[in-house]
Amino acid sequence: MGKILLGKPAAENVLDRVRQRLAQIQGQGLRMPKLAVIQVGDDPASTVYVRNKIKTCEKLGIARELFRLEKDVEEDELLRLVEKLSADEEVSGILVQLPLPEAIDADKVMERINPLKDVDCLHPENVGRLWLGKPFVKPCTPAGIIELLEFYGISLDGKRAVIIGRSNIVGKPLLALMLQKNATVTICHTRTKELKEVARGADVLVVAAGRARLVGADFVRQGAVVIDVGVNREVSEKGEERLVGDVDFEAVKEKVYAISPVPGGVGPMTIAMLMNNVIACYEGQKKEVGA
Ligand code: NAD
Repeated sequence: MGKILLGKPAAENVLDRVRQRLAQIQGQGLRMPKLAVIQVGDDPASTVYVRNKIKTCEKLGIARELFRLEKDVEEDELLRLVEKLSADEEVSGILVQLPLPEAIDADKVMERINPLKDVDCLHPENVGRLWLGKPFVKPCTPAGIIELLEFYGISLDGKRAVIIGRSNIVGKPLLALMLQKNATVTICHTRTKELKEVARGADVLVVAAGRARLVGADFVRQGAVVIDVGVNREVSEKGEERLVGDVDFEAVKEKVYAISPVPGGVGPMTIAMLMNNVIACYEGQKKEVGA
């Protein structure tokens, strides 16, 4: 059976670095970093994600403020809030929880975030820097995947990596980060032909499709590394809700060198990298004002 890539110890490793930096900031008597989180509407999954992010800030001693807006809020009102927070010196990072209601142009909202406070790396300026190989911040989930691999001593150098999923928050930015680690990367999507064959060519296979058990043992080469990003809600035969990934974990784990579980794999990494990015933004703003 393959090695299980648990997210918790790797995430704690990142959070230890964050704690150390926070202790220094506190020791110097400086203003503490602060994360502003905006949630529009009351989607239950988003509410859970937002709660976890706020809770992690609380545990670490990062200041935080949650702004909840009605799901039918005018786009202009949201844009004004983003602008206000962008100009607020107390606020180090701004996170707008996605997805936003369809009536709101999410790209426009991202463009209004001060790029120095863009903890999710979604402002076009930061996306550009990422692709140029000089990121200001790295997007949380893809950066978390790279950290997870590094924590368990899995190198990407010269490896064939295949990513299933081409979203702007996972697949595409992960492609950029894996290239920087010298992997040879293929990205797949719903129109990819012979997905199974392409996936079987991977030394490192990352699945971020949002389709429960899309990837079975026949998608995976013997001895590959599999990272499961998917989070799908399922109701069990006993009527209990549970989370499952995009990979058929039980079948695939027998065949691989290593595999990340759902839950407990990539999820904790995403939150840890978010905290890391709050610090990166805080430092970036200090540099900007020459402090
Ligand atoms: P998305 O819906 O924006 O994108 C999904 C991508 O997968 C698309 O590019 C699509 O082309 C591809 N895809 C879908 N079905 C496919 C199929 N049958 N064959 C090939 N390609 C297919 O999703 P997203 O926001 O990138 O998220 C993907 C999954 O990862 C979701 O389950 C989401 O909940 C999860 N996620 C988890 C974390 C975490 O921290 N654990 C963070 C972000 C996303």
